[in-house]
This record gives sequence, structure tokens and C-alpha cells, in this order.
Amino acid sequence: MAIEQLISPGDRSVEMVGRVKRSVAGGDSTYSDPGTGQALAVRRAEDATLWDQDGNSYLDYCLGRGSLLLGHTPVDVIDGVHEQLTERGVHFCLPHRLEVKVGEALQQLVPCVDLVRFTCSGTEAVMGAVRLARASTGREKIVKCEGAYHGWGDLEFASVWPSDDGDLGPADAPRTVLQSQGIPASVADTIVVIPFNDADALSRVLEDRAHEIAAVVIEPVLAQCGIVPPDDGYLQEVRRLTLEHGVMLIFDEVSTGFRLAAGGAQQYYRVIPDLCVLGGAMGGGFPVACFGGPADVMQLVVDKTVLLGGIHAGAPLALSGADKVLDRIRRDTDPSAPYPVDHDAVYAGAGKGPGEKKVFPGGPPGTLYTRLFELGDRLRTGLAAIFSDAGLSCVDQGVGPMFSVYLGDGDVRELRNYRQVREFARVDLYASWQAEMQKRGVYLHPHQFQPMFVSLAHTDDDIDRTLAASEGSVAEIARRL
Ligand code: PMP
Repeated sequence: MAIEQLISPGDRSVEMVGRVKRSVAGGDSTYSDPGTGQALAVRRAEDATLWDQDGNSYLDYCLGRGSLLLGHTPVDVIDGVHEQLTERGVHFCLPHRLEVKVGEALQQLVPCVDLVRFTCSGTEAVMGAVRLARASTGREKIVKCEGAYHGWGDLEFASVWPSDDGDLGPADAPRTVLQSQGIPASVADTIVVIPFNDADALSRVLEDRAHEIAAVVIEPVLAQCGIVPPDDGYLQEVRRLTLEHGVMLIFDEVSTGFRLAAGGAQQYYRVIPDLCVLGGAMGGGFPVACFGGPADVMQLVVDKTVLLGGIHAGAPLALSGADKVLDRIRRDTDPSAPYPVDHDAVYAGAGKGPGEKKVFPGGPPGTLYTRLFELGDRLRTGLAAIFSDAGLSCVDQGVGPMFSVYLGDGDVRELRNYRQVREFARVDLYASWQAEMQKRGVYLHPHQFQPMFVSLAHTDDDIDRTLAASEGSVAEIARRL
């Protein structure tokens, strides 16, 4: 399939990207342009496609940083929000039917959840979960993985993208690097950083310091240094060690929730945390997140020993988006087991054994997750084949609908933690490929560390067009090397 005309940034996009900088500090609110990308200001979006201000269209694999699991314009989500808006009201700050519906859906779908608490963002939900863990245990420190992102709250924003310029510390006992100026330096003493996929490192930390650690907070699949899946058995070992040492385990499922399975990574990998954080895909693009866990763990929130706030927490418009997303997941995931879903059945259908990674969760073939995995696997392996046919070194890894194709140097097969990613990845080369893809009507985030996502709105034809665009793009960057 030939891609004939190359798109160059049009005047209107360039003008708008320039103009936004004059009123919005830093140029946009979500760091969409790390400085390597070509100007792209959006006019509108539909299904899997974005249109820029100049009328050019792009297949979108960034998808609102993964929040658009069903695509840009799923009819039922839009209808649900519209109905809420026009017939029921915008905001109440009083109990309402959507809190009931979404709360009950989360209870039914997510294995560790009996009770939830809604927030507007993943950042706030992580803050709530960590506060609860501290209050429950009476301890102050948390353990997190190098390269993992848990939002930008002061108490969690450390060692996400520590730079080589600083002193990173030993690979098996990384130094805590605060990610922003303005976070009190003393916060670093409350965060212990470990490498991902290294259960021995966690074991050593817990042996020495479990008495001062409230929780291990973990992204079951690292998603902010590209995608780094857990080794077989790693999450099980993290669960075993945290139980053994009486430390809480918090799964931050803002990226994995509702993407890997109806019950998220905890269902997919069959490891049940004490608390989990959900957001991202849950709202269908609307700003809603939550944290949740078993009733006994959530008790301190119930009795208001742990306090949280937010006039827009649980806001009806955002919850009406979540209501329709969760409805769709329940309907499509297992048509043979009508709602309410039986938790034991969910587990039985979730996998064949802890050693087997390739598990197709959530119901019979043809359902939502099978489709997302097919699309993601086909695109990831197709892209990787194009790079290796061109003699370029790449590592492709991911879990179904979330994946990365890392471009780098050397004969490397797998990247198991942040340091391996940093060592291998050539961010500049990736940015060149991204720019060529954008010229050919495919939008990926310009930074290598932001993963690619597929949605249910992508079609097989979209994947074919993307692979064709990549043929041309890879030929172009190979020519320049
Ligand atoms: N945790 C993880 C794992 C995330 O991926 C994100 C968002 N990228 C967050 C927390 C923060 O969520 P939000 O952007 O909604 O604050």
C-alpha cells in the first residue's frame, strides 16, 4: 500500500501550537510535545483518527495517553454523557445513581475491590491509596520501582526518569531521585526505590526495613519508560514477600486497568493486591479515577480516619463516561455469564498457570479483549519485522493493546527494567521515525518512553495502513543513517 503524499505541519497547527504557549505555561497541559515532535494541534477526532487544524488526518496510537480504550467517539459513551448533561444535571455533590452503578460495576469486575473511592485523576487516587496504606500500617515509607510513574504528587514523584547526569546509585539499590524542583528534599527519605523485575532486591529491602514500610506501590506493567512487562512469577513473588513481611501491596493500574482484562493486571496475572488504583481507560476519555480494596482495608476511609477531598470527585459527567465503558466491558467480556459476573468464574477464565504468559483473558474468542490483543500483537510484531528487515536494531515488547517498539543499538532481545531501557533506547532515532510516521498520517507520541496503544476503534485496515506507513518511514530513516 503506497502512501503518496507526505504531510508537513500546516500553518494553522504551527500557529496554534505557538499561540498556546502564550497563555498556557509550558505550551500544553499534558506534555504532548517533548520538543522533538512536529506541531500538531487538533481540530477534531473520531474513532481512531485525529484531524489537525489544517485538515490532515492521522491514525492515533497515543489515544489520550491510553484513556480512549474504545476509541475517540464511542456512541454509547457519548450518548450516556449527553443524556446526563441534558436530562439529569451536571453536578450535585450529593449521592447519585452513577456512583451506585459505577461502584457496583467495579466491585463486580475488579478482583481486589469491595469498596472504592472516586477521584478526578490517577495522581489523586494514588495519593489516596498511599495515605490509606500509611494510616493502616502506622508506617511512613513506600517502596516503588525505578522507571515507574504514579502521578505527580509530591510523595510519589521520584525516580521515574532519573537522568544519567545525576548519581543513579547501584542498579540493585537505586538512589531516590525526586522528579521535580519544589518537592521538599526530605520526601526522598520516605521513598525506597527498587529495580523492576528483581524480587531479590525487594526481598533485601523488606528484610532490612519492613518495620518502616507502609506499602510497595507497583505498576504491574511498567508503562512510562515504554512497556516493560513483568517476568514470569515476578508479581507473584512481590505478593508473597509483601504478605510475608506484613507490608501492603498497591497495584497502580491506571495503565493496565480495563486494558489487559476486565479485571486489569490483577486478573491477567492472577495476583491480588491489597489496594488498587484505576483510572485512564476507565472513563472513556472523561476525567475519573479511583482507588479501592477489600472492605476491611478501606475501613479507615469509611470511618473518616483517612480524609480525602475534591468537589469534582465522583462528578456525574465523568462517571457517566465510566458507566458506559464498564457496561461495554461487561457486555462484551463474557456474554455467557450475564452480569453480575461471578468472581470465581473470572479467575477460572483468566489463565492456565502462573508460568504461562500468553493468556487471553475475559471470555470466548471474538470478545473485546481477544480483539484488542489481536490488533496490538499484529501491529507490534509487524512493526518489529519492518525494522529488522531494514537491519535496524529494535526490541518490541508489550502486553496486547499496550506495547513499545524500542529503537536502539546492539543485539538486545529484552528490556527488563528502566536501566536496560535507558541503555538501549535511542530516543533521537525514535523521534525521527515518529516524525516520518506523522508525515505519513500516523500519530505516535514523539517520545520513545510513551507506549503505543490500540483501541477497539482501530480496524485491520488501519493496521495495514500503519504498517505501510512504517515501511516508508523506516526506509527513510535507514537511508539517513
Ligand atoms: N499511574 C500510572 C501508572 C499512570 O500511567 C498515570 C498516568 N499516566 C498516573 C498514575 C497518573 O494519572 P493521571 O494522569 O490521571 O493523574
